[in-house]
Amino acid sequence: MSAPNKSYDPVEVEALKPEEIARMRDEALAAIAAAGDLQELHEVKVAQTGGTSPLALANREIGALPPQAKAEAGKRVGQARGQVSQALKARQEELEAERDARVLVEEAVDVTLPHDRVRAGARHPLTTLSERIEDVFVAMGYEVAEGPEVESEWLNFDALNIAPDHPARTMQDTFFVENAAAGEDQSGVVLRTHTSPVQIRTMLDREPPLYVICPGRVYRTDELDATHTPVFNQVELLAIDEGLTMADLRGTLDHMVKALFGDDIKTRLRPNYFPFTEPSAELDMVCYVCRGASVGDPQRPCRTCSSEGWIELGGCGMVNPRVLTACGVDPEKYSGFAFGFGIERMLMFRHNVEDMRDMVEGDVRFTRPFGMEI
Ligand SMILES: [Zn+2]
Repeated sequence: MSAPNKSYDPVEVEALKPEEIARMRDEALAAIAAAGDLQELHEVKVAQTGGTSPLALANREIGALPPQAKAEAGKRVGQARGQVSQALKARQEELEAERDARVLVEEAVDVTLPHDRVRAGARHPLTTLSERIEDVFVAMGYEVAEGPEVESEWLNFDALNIAPDHPARTMQDTFFVENAAAGEDQSGVVLRTHTSPVQIRTMLDREPPLYVICPGRVYRTDELDATHTPVFNQVELLAIDEGLTMADLRGTLDHMVKALFGDDIKTRLRPNYFPFTEPSAELDMVCYVCRGASVGDPQRPCRTCSSEGWIELGGCGMVNPRVLTACGVDPEKYSGFAFGFGIERMLMFRHNVEDMRDMVEGDVRFTRPFGMEI
C-alpha cells in the first residue's frame, strides 16, 4: 500500500472544487442533450466518459487529496459521473426509439404501388393440354402427325365417307376457299373442319401398322360466343393394324382418361353414328368433380357435369371399311379405330373455364394462372 499523500497541492486539485465538478457535469449533460443522433451521442460518450474526459481526469485527482477531503470529493465526482451516465442512457433510448420510428416510415414498402417489373409470361393452356395428351399417346407408341389447315374437299369429306349431300358439307358449317369446278371431276378447297384429313394422308402415304395422333386447328362457320368459336383445336387418333377390335379402342381410351383425370375415373361408350366409323360410339367419363354423386341429389348440384354424373368427351369407333378402301388399305386384312375430341371443350370442364372467348382473346391475365407447364 502506498503511503498517504502528504504533498497536497491546492493548485493541482482545482478541478475537484464543487463548482468545477458541477460545471463539468453540466457541460457533459448539455452535450448529451445536444446529440442529434446515435453517432453524435457515441462521440459525446467517448468525450464525456472516456479515460481522458474531464470527470475521469478529476476522478484521478482524488488520490492526491488529503485523506479528510477524499471522501467528499469522491462523492461529488461519483454523483456527477452517475448523472452523466444516466443522462447518456436516457438519451440513447430516446434516439433509438426515434431511429426505429423513422426506419418504419422510411423503409415501409407500399405493395399497392404500380411497378414496372415485367411479369413472367405463361404458355397458353390449350397448348399445354394438347401436349399433355400427345405425351399420353406417344408413351403408348403413337406418332404425332400434322397436316395443312387448307385442305382439299376430297380429303376433308369424300375420303371419310361423307357424301356430297351430307349436312356437314353445307355452307353453314364449312369455310369454302374454292368451290369444286362445276361439271369437272375436281375437288374444292376448304378450311379443314376436323383433323381427320391428316389421318387420310397418313394412310395414303404409308403402309399399316399405323398409330398416329393428329392435333391441330380446325375451322367451322360458327359465331364466336361463350360456347362456340370458328377456330378451335382438335386431337384425333388413328390406329390401323391387323386384328384391332373395339376392345383395343376401349382400353386405349380408358388409359387416356385415367392418365389425364386419375386412375379411378370410369369410362363408357354409347352408340352413336359417324360416317367414317362403323360401329361408332360416344366416349363418356365419370364426372371427375362429383364422381356421379350429384345425380338425383338437389343438395349437391355439380356445374361440371350439370348433375348428370357423366361428361361427354368425344366421338370414336372402328374405322369404316369404306374409308380404309378409299385410302388403299385392305379392310379384309386390317382394321382400325379412331377417336377425336375438342381441346377447348376439355379445357372448359377440366379447369372450369366458362367462356370460350377467354381462350381466344389472348389476354395474358387468362393464361397466367395456368403457369409455365412444359
Ligand atoms: Zn359432376
